[in-house]
Amino acid sequence: MSTVSQKYRVQDLARFGGTKTFDRVRGTPNLVRPDIEKVLNYSHEFFEARRYTNGGPLVRKLEARLALLHGVKHCVAFSNAFWAIVTTIRSLSIDGRTELVMPSLTYRRLADIVSWTGLTPHFCEVNPETLAMDPKFAIKAVNERTALLLSPHPIVNNCDIAGMEELSQQTGIPLVFDSVESAMETYRGKMIGGFGRAECFSMHSSKLLNGFEGGYVTTNDGALAEQLAYIRGFGFADEDKVVALGLNAKLNEVHAAMAHAAIDDLPDQIERNKKRYHAYRSLLENLREIRLLEFDADERRCFKSIVVELLDSWPLSRSETIDLLHAEGALVRPYYSPPQHLKKMAYATICEDLHETERLAERFLLLPCGEHVDEEDIRQVVDLLVFMRGHSTEIRAAFAGGARS
Ligand SMILES: *Cc1c(COP(=O)(O)O)cnc(C)c1O
Repeated sequence: MSTVSQKYRVQDLARFGGTKTFDRVRGTPNLVRPDIEKVLNYSHEFFEARRYTNGGPLVRKLEARLALLHGVKHCVAFSNAFWAIVTTIRSLSIDGRTELVMPSLTYRRLADIVSWTGLTPHFCEVNPETLAMDPKFAIKAVNERTALLLSPHPIVNNCDIAGMEELSQQTGIPLVFDSVESAMETYRGKMIGGFGRAECFSMHSSKLLNGFEGGYVTTNDGALAEQLAYIRGFGFADEDKVVALGLNAKLNEVHAAMAHAAIDDLPDQIERNKKRYHAYRSLLENLREIRLLEFDADERRCFKSIVVELLDSWPLSRSETIDLLHAEGALVRPYYSPPQHLKKMAYATICEDLHETERLAERFLLLPCGEHVDEEDIRQVVDLLVFMRGHSTEIRAAFAGGARS
C-alpha cells in the first residue's frame, strides 16, 4: 500500500513540488499473475516429454480448451496477436484487391499489423456511442478495391457485430474481428469467437489472459484453421512438404503453461476486476464532470479496463489532467490517442474526413486498473480528481506561471 499523501494546496500536487501519491507507479496494463505453482505444474508435462515447441502437448490442449470456451470448432495458437492477425488477413482477403477498411480510433499499432499484409489501411469513422467500427460509417470507406473488413472491439463493450456481419454479406467482403478487448465476453448472450470469418485474440501480459506473449484465432471454418496452422509453422504440411508461404509464429510450451494457469484463474480474476470497477463506479458518482463508461449489465463482461470521458464541464484540459496524474505516479493513458490517421506512418494509408474520430480521441482516459491496483489506490486516484476539480483555477494559474518562468 502507498503512503497517504493528502493534498490541501496546489503546491501539494507532485507536478508543482509536492509529494507523489504513489511511490510505485499505478498503470493500466492488466498484468495478471497466475499461481506460480500451477504454471510449474503445467510446465512439468512438456519438460518431461522434451517437447518445447512445434505443437507440443500444452499448446494442443490450450487450443482445445480455448475452442471450447469460445464455443467454436477451431482455435489456432500464435506467438502473438500481431502474426495471428496478419496471417488471418492474408488468408481471407479478396485476391487482387488492395485496401482494408478499419477504424482509425483503435489499438495504436493495428495499421502497422495491416501494412505487413501488403494491404493499405483505409480508415473509417467510428460510432460515437460505441467508439467502435459501425456499418453506417464503415460503408463510406468501402469500394471496389476493398479486400477485407477488420472490425476491432472497443475497450468497453462490443462493436455492432450483427450490423458488421450484414455489411459483409451485402458487399461480399470478408469480415474479421480483432476481439482482443472482448475476450471471454458475450454478444447477445453468445460467446465472442464465432462471429465473422474469424476472430483474433492476444495473450500479451497486458491483456485479459497472460501468456507472457501469445495470440490465437478462433473460427468455425476448418479449411481456414488448417491454412493458418500451416502458415504459422513455415508452411509445412508434413516433414518435407511445404503447402503455403509460411512464417515462424508458433506459440511455445512455456507460454502455453502460463496461459493455462491464467485460464484457471479467470473466474477469480473477473471477480477482482469487478470489485475495482464497482469501486470506481461508486466513487465517481460524486464527480459529475467525469463519466465512467459502463459495462453492459446484460452480457458477460470481464471488467478489465476502466475508461472515462472528461465531459465539457470538466475544468481542465485532458493533457493537463494527464500531466498532473502522471506526476503523482498514476499512469493514466489517453484512449487510443492520437488516432492512427494523424500519426506519421512508414507506409501509405487512406482516409476521408474523420472529424468525429478526432473529437472523440480528445475526450477519453484509461484510469489505473489491473492486478497491481487495489481499492485504496482507486480511492486515491478519485480523490486526486476531486482535488483537481476543486482547485482548477489555481492549477491553471500554476501551469501558466510555469510556462512563463
Ligand atoms: C494488444 C493488441 C493487439 C496486439 O496484440 P499482441 O499479442 O501484442 O501482438 C491487437 N489488437 C488489439 C486491440 C490489442 O489491444
